Parts: sequence; structure tokens; C-alpha cells
Amino acid sequence: MGIPNRTSHANRSVSQVDPGGTVSEASNYIGGSFGRGSAEPLDVIDPATGAVVRTYGSDDASSVAAAVAAASAAYPEWSRATPAERSGALHALAAELTAREDELVTQECLQTGKPRRLAAGFDVPGSIDNVQFFAGAARRLDGMASGEYSGDHTSSIRREPIGVVGSIAPWNYPLQMAVWKVLPAIAAGNTIVLKPAENTPLTTMLLAEACEAAGIPAGVVNVVNGTGPAVGSALVSSPDLAMTSFTGSTATGRVIAGLAAVNGTRLHLELGGKAPFVVFDDADLDAAVHGAVAGSLINTGQDCTAATRAYVHRSVFDEFVAGVADLMRGIRLGTQDDPDTDLGPLVSFRQRDKVAGMVEKAVAEGARAVCGGTIPGGALADGAFYEPTLIVDAAQDSSIVQDEVFGPVLVAIPFDTDDEGLALANDCPFGLAASAWTGSVFRAHRAARELAAGTVWINDHIPIISEMPHGGYKASGYGKDMSAYSLDDYTQLKHVMTELTGAVQKDWHDVVFT
Ligand code: NAD
Repeated sequence: MGIPNRTSHANRSVSQVDPGGTVSEASNYIGGSFGRGSAEPLDVIDPATGAVVRTYGSDDASSVAAAVAAASAAYPEWSRATPAERSGALHALAAELTAREDELVTQECLQTGKPRRLAAGFDVPGSIDNVQFFAGAARRLDGMASGEYSGDHTSSIRREPIGVVGSIAPWNYPLQMAVWKVLPAIAAGNTIVLKPAENTPLTTMLLAEACEAAGIPAGVVNVVNGTGPAVGSALVSSPDLAMTSFTGSTATGRVIAGLAAVNGTRLHLELGGKAPFVVFDDADLDAAVHGAVAGSLINTGQDCTAATRAYVHRSVFDEFVAGVADLMRGIRLGTQDDPDTDLGPLVSFRQRDKVAGMVEKAVAEGARAVCGGTIPGGALADGAFYEPTLIVDAAQDSSIVQDEVFGPVLVAIPFDTDDEGLALANDCPFGLAASAWTGSVFRAHRAARELAAGTVWINDHIPIISEMPHGGYKASGYGKDMSAYSLDDYTQLKHVMTELTGAVQKDWHDVVFT
């Protein structure tokens, strides 16, 4: 069996959709062909200006059914390709994405408003690195053990793919989230149907274009676009899915878990976060201040691991608050192409209004905004911007401390003892990430043990690497993205037990009673 070479798809192109059109105008990629859905048109909006940058006809349940059928048809050949063949196709995909790096940066910024230097330095290279990692990991799909555990038998473990994966991604890092869903799934030999968020389809369609150019066989990667309730739920409800993998909010994750349960589909859920940032009295305070600003404002706070709750020892609390507020006041808001922009807008006006509403409620309940807490005017008034905001005097059980804001908002709360600081950090439903800041190796290890989160940083907050897993505890979900650990989620283990003596005609009494 072989994977078709890279040029074998050259005859299929988006021009079949609309002569003179571009890939970005297609709404789906099914069985190796680009197409356009005929359901309700949806707008892609540049949140920095409010301008409509693309309108596409969204897909419907019939596109979903066609995509699942294409993925099912492609599964037997792809799942039996050798690891080296799959690896070669994924290396080719990395090369195709690298060739499109500039376009990916442009389109990612256009649909999210994020500063170009963030997409160029983090989103796109991080995504390509992830593809390269899984191109290598595709060759490490061995089982864990073999041996003679019963006198006359030898046991071995086969690690096998699962089947067709239905995947749904959010809008905060559209390309990275698509790559995190697609790559471990197909590296392990599954095929996939992916639905990006309805407001950020552009770079996922470029990913589909790169898959085609790389010679990934038709039907291995399929993309459909549309709203969650219409297209996402049709996908998750498909009886032909073997697995659903979802990244998004905890509320939607619970809806999806209910839909998947109807068919008993395997689930992988990467959900919301509300990361604590614990500063002990022996921390390097300047490093902690910079870490808090970077950790809370990255991607305008629309990061599931963003630092959102700073618990700071009372002896250094005032200095920490003054330092963070000072840095936040100097942050430059702006549009994606301005090289001086530190912080872009929220992804949408809806998200901006949600953030503003949560801050207003916190202030009405007695909290205080040391800086920010406002929608900027002037040249930024047309975009979905919000000032970097530091909140103090909020109650631990208030919404601003317990619920995901997903915006440039950090809450700071003092504590008196290590036990109290760690207990407050864990007093929240989410458990995706946490950090501890200290000069003591003992405190560092204790915090790493005590903090209930899938990632704990010591004296840092935010970095991720393709080699290490990312995934939640508690209401932040289960399953791992990135790293070889994610391959566990996208494969199933088969125990093969082989009789060694060749005595195939044993008396049945001997088999059952000895
Ligand atoms: P969301 O839950 O609103 O939407 C995510 C996706 O689900 C979108 O594609 C949407 O169309 C789809 N969807 C919505 N309703 C659906 C339904 N009923 N059936 C099927 N699909 C449905 O999340 P969002 O606002 O796009 O993204 C932000 C959230 O994602 C935050 O909560 C954030 O913490 C989370 N997130 C988590 C991780 C992680 O790794 N844990 C990473 C990034 C984002």
C-alpha cells in the first residue's frame, strides 16, 4: 500500500467551486475537493475595525454526512499505511505550511485581530512545529509490552487507530487548535472531520489546502464550516464517528458530551481554564510582575491557560499590584499591522461586551479596577478593544474570580500562609494550568504537587512545547493535546495472546478448568 504522491491531487482545486475564486471562499474540504455550503451565509469580521473580510455560505447536515462518509472511505487505506508513509505525508504537510507561513499569519490576524508579531512569532511557527513533531511521532506507535505471562502463551500489545474522528475547535488560536486536533489523530492512522469556529475559518481552509498540496490522501482530512448548534452538533451526533475531540468552553463541552453519549462515542475534551498565579514572599518580584502581565494579557487574555487569578503573599502584595498596574498602563493597544501593537482587540464585539459586563458586575459587587476596566475611545472605538485591567478587592467566591472571563483581566488577591495561597488557588472548578513563583526549591516542588492542574509552571507562566502534554484536570476536561501522550487518546490497545506449544486440539476441560 502506498500513499499517493504529492502531485496526484493537482487536478482538484477550489476553482471547481467558483472560477476565479480562492480557497478562502470555499466553506468545506470533503474527500479532497473544496466546496461551498448553501446554508445561511456567515461573516468573518476583522475585530480591529469591524469590517467584514469574508462572507461564506455555511455548511449543513448534508455536508457533514458527506464529510464523515469521505473520512470512513479513506480510513482503511490510511490506517494501514506504514508509519513511515504517514510520517512522510506529514513532513510534506509541514513543508506546505512553511511555504504558506506569511499567508497564514495574514489570515490569522485578519480573522482574530491579533498583532502580526504574535501570529508570526507564536501561532504559525508553533503550529508548524507541532506538525513536525507528529510527523516524527507517527513512527512511534508501538505497544507497551510483550512477554510470557501465562505458561503456554506469549502476549503482545498492538496499538491501533480508532476510526473516524469528529473534531470541533475554538477561535482563540484557530490554526493551532486545528493542528492540535488534526495531527495526533491522523499521525495515529485515524481520519478526521474538523469544524473550526464559525468566525475563524480562514486558516483552517489554508490547512486543508496544504493537506491537499502535501498529498495527504483524499478523505483523510475533511473540513466543514458553520455554527456549533447547526453543523457542530450534526457532526458530534453522527453515528459513524468513533471519537469526538473538542476544544472549547466547558459549557459547550458538556453539551457535546451529552450528544456523544447517545452513540457511545469516545471523547476527548479540552475545556475552559482559570489559571492561578501564586506569588510567595520569596519570589523574584520583578520577574513575577512581568510574568503576570505576559501571562494574563497574551492573546488579549483569550488563552485557556492565561493567568487570571494572582494570589500574592500579603507582604509583597502592594508592590506586586503597583508593578503590574504600572506595566499594564504602558501597554499599547492597536491594529494587527502596526509593529508597535502590544495588544490586539478581543476576537469579537460580543466577546468584548462579555468581558466588560463581567468587570462591571465585579465593580458593582465591591471590587476595584486599579487600571483599565474601560472600553477605549478615539481611534480604537471602531474595534473590539478593551483596556488591560487589574482588579483588587474581589471576593474569592465572586464571578470574576470563579468564572472564565477570557479577556485582558487579572484579579489579585492577598494571602498570609503557603497553605492558604495554595488552597485559594485550588478553590475553583477549573484545572487547566497554574504557576508558582518562589526562590525555594521546597516550595516549588510542594506547589507542583499541590496545585490541581494539568500544567504547573515554576517561575514562569504560558510557555508550551510540542513534546509535552497539554490538558485539563477537573472542569477543564480530560485527554491530552500535543506530545506522544496525545497518541494514547487517539489509539486503542489490543492484547494479542498466542498459544506457544502448537497443541491446538486441547481438551476443553483443560482450557476451562486449569
Ligand atoms: P465555544 O465552546 O463557544 O465554541 C467552541 C466550538 O464549539 C466552536 O467551533 C463552536 O461552533 C462549537 N459549538 C458551539 N456550540 C456547539 C454545540 N451545541 N454543538 C457542537 N458544537 C458547538 O468556545 P469558544 O468561545 O469558541 O472558545 C473559547 C473557549 O475555548 C474558552 O472556554 C477556552 O478556555 C476554551 N479553550 C480551551 C483550550 C484547551 O486546550 N483546554 C484551548 C483553547 C480554548
